[in-house]
Amino acid sequence: MSGAGLDSLYQEVIMDHSKQRHGAGLREDAATSSHQLNPTCGDELTLNLHVNATGDTIDSVSWDGQGCVISQASMSMLHDLLGGLPVAQVEPRLAAFREMMRSKGQIEGDPDLLGDAVALAGVSRYVARVKCAMLGWVALEDAVRQLPPPDADLGHP
Ligand code: ZN
Repeated sequence: MSGAGLDSLYQEVIMDHSKQRHGAGLREDAATSSHQLNPTCGDELTLNLHVNATGDTIDSVSWDGQGCVISQASMSMLHDLLGGLPVAQVEPRLAAFREMMRSKGQIEGDPDLLGDAVALAGVSRYVARVKCAMLGWVALEDAVRQLPPPDADLGHP
């Protein structure tokens, strides 16, 4: 599928996520947290990162926020990627999403890495909206960066 057919399918995926907001509603037991603003559009969100007992796998993210359809849908899509994902596999997904969003519509995105978020590929043609799509991903990156490094004990024999 290509062209208008794919575009309208993607529109539908984006609208569904913006209404259903997977993972919305902050949970208390967060390992780390990040609050992000996109002043150019008025989007705002808080992401809580929940990890397993050993701290190397994401249990889930919970989040709350307000703003445009794209910012809310993107966070909902991101939520769906993260349950049970090893922390070490976050970075390649962030990199793939960022590459797609900087491509001005040239990169379609890999559904194996990005799931439903490939539906946001077309948004990359609209420079003003890229920050909306990136907001949740920036929050995730910030929250992951605050986690203790997995090899924190190695320096203390
Ligand atoms: Zn926005």
